[in-house]
Amino acid sequence: MPPSTRRVALPVWGGERTVDLPVPGGRGTLLAVLPAARKMTLEMMRLSEQRELREGRKVSCKAGCGSCCRQLVPISSVEAKSLANVVERMPRPKREAIKRKFDAALAKLEEAGLLFAAGDGPRTSLVSQVDDSESDAWADVSKRYFALEIACPFLEKESCGIYEDRPLICREYLVTSDPSHCRSIDGNARAVPRPAFPSRALAHAAEVLDGIPSSSIPLVLALEWAEWMGGELGADHAGDEVLDAFLDGLVWGEELDENADP
Ligand code: SF4
Repeated sequence: MPPSTRRVALPVWGGERTVDLPVPGGRGTLLAVLPAARKMTLEMMRLSEQRELREGRKVSCKAGCGSCCRQLVPISSVEAKSLANVVERMPRPKREAIKRKFDAALAKLEEAGLLFAAGDGPRTSLVSQVDDSESDAWADVSKRYFALEIACPFLEKESCGIYEDRPLICREYLVTSDPSHCRSIDGNARAVPRPAFPSRALAHAAEVLDGIPSSSIPLVLALEWAEWMGGELGADHAGDEVLDAFLDGLVWGEELDENADP
């Protein structure tokens, strides 16, 4: 039976576009919604990029530029599990090399006081030196993380080594500024405005369907988190249900901050 699709509106930049998303077949965990979430993100960013072009700005991101891959990358529990699965499917030598990079990143964060030593529970966040507000705390850990110059464990010769499987947040982040600004977080990087955040919608779906708090897990903690969770991610749900939960979490026009961090 051919996979079914669902046509959904893409209320982007005042237009009335639609996109046909694959509906997960049968029952499965939230991992099954990733193809739809990726397609939604691709179409959304394609329209955003076209809008930039119309206004005379060209996206400067290209293969071989990993300038933004030393920034703190927040992902949902769904994508943490997905990345852990990607690593487990790698041939052994590569898998072990990637795991060593994750271990080295965590050791560096512990040494810098950004991460408590591993204990009894899962480590899902970094340690902020400010507790004024969630956004201040995030800004603080982002800045200190960036200063450590930790390349994403998946970065290979300045290109993404898991391009087809990269997280939604990496797909959402495009810039029209000089790549050097992505290397310095000097505030001059001009991100293409995002009309919605599919990455957050995925976290919302995990909270609604599986009761997993929609925290943003730093990518470097993905393997540790997935190992601590063990087994599969959450319960099995019908395909329509996981797609509904994802789409319900999309808030169009939620934030159009042109300089929002990835
Ligand atoms: S997953 Fe790929 S695109 Fe995302 S930060 Fe890592 S290397 Fe860069």
